[in-house]
Amino acid sequence: RIVDPAAVEGDEGRVEAALRPRRLEDFPGQPRVREQLALVLEAARRRGAPPDHILLSGPPGLGKTTLAMITAAELEAPIRVTSGPAIQHAGDLASILSSLTEGEVLFLDEIHRMSRAAEEMLYLAMEDFRVDIVVGKGPGATAIPLELPPFTVVGATTRAGLLPAPLRDRFGFTGHLDFYDTGDLEAIIRRSATLLEIEADDHGVHEIARRSRGTPRIANRLLRRVRDWAQVHGSHVVDLAAAEAALALFDVDASGLDRLDRGVLEALCRRFAGGPVGLSTLAVAVGEEPDTVETVAEPYLVREGYMIRTPRGRVATTRTWEHLGLEPPAGTGE
Ligand code: ADP
Repeated sequence: RIVDPAAVEGDEGRVEAALRPRRLEDFPGQPRVREQLALVLEAARRRGAPPDHILLSGPPGLGKTTLAMITAAELEAPIRVTSGPAIQHAGDLASILSSLTEGEVLFLDEIHRMSRAAEEMLYLAMEDFRVDIVVGKGPGATAIPLELPPFTVVGATTRAGLLPAPLRDRFGFTGHLDFYDTGDLEAIIRRSATLLEIEADDHGVHEIARRSRGTPRIANRLLRRVRDWAQVHGSHVVDLAAAEAALALFDVDASGLDRLDRGVLEALCRRFAGGPVGLSTLAVAVGEEPDTVETVAEPYLVREGYMIRTPRGRVATTRTWEHLGLEPPAGTGE
């Protein structure tokens, strides 16, 4: 199955698609990954052959899908978009692979969520450009090898560690995306404001950037909510007052932490005395899936020093207690 993000995510997906930079030179932030990717693509272009397979890893909303689209655009190649969860059976993957054209980019989002059987088929295809089509069932089934034209897989994952080593090894280049700094987010917000015809001043842009958890997707979403606020309250300008009012309304605190972040920190401190506490216990306490806590909330909390991951579980830091305005219990902390 081919997944169209716009069809899955409705309006939100359509706006996101409209805000995606199309070329590498229009993509702010991630200087390291951008430079690495530019080199890989330029070398492939000069050789006149598809580049090695590319893996992009990092938390949600940092630009993995965008970079996959950019890769195809830079190669002037068509792109096929699907995702691990959409590939239930190896047969689903076989039919996609067997219809690829030469040089096509196959974008596999959430590649760590593919079935085992599909994974095995994928690494054979990535290595040898071959897929075995199974005909028939049971003892009479036969595998007919089918040659594939050279193509490039761009895989995206929030959990590179979950990929089996044989699959990870098939990628010639892995780009690790990290959270954006405030300056890059300001550039992204200004660009989006222009595209969406939103009037925004420097203070408004800065405030949204500062409170976007280092994540362009969140920055773009908050920009639209602040725009809503400004529209309804008659000023029509995204300024500091509008940003502060709208972000308070949507539960984004002064440090940019959202409801889930604060829920996790509150549970960690109030219910488990600052830890250590295991991921699944913590997830149950906030009423979320462990995977959501681990991939959505934790990377930013850990990076900003609100939480430490230890072999015995998650532990609060001095910063956590301070942020929540609580006294750490004696003898704990970092
Ligand atoms: P991911 O696939 O990592 O979850 P996406 O590529 O879908 O993230 O990006 C989410 C949103 O953030 C998109 O609307 C995209 O336009 C925007 N975005 C991501 N990275 C950038 C960037 N460097 N510059 C501008 N917009 C970006």
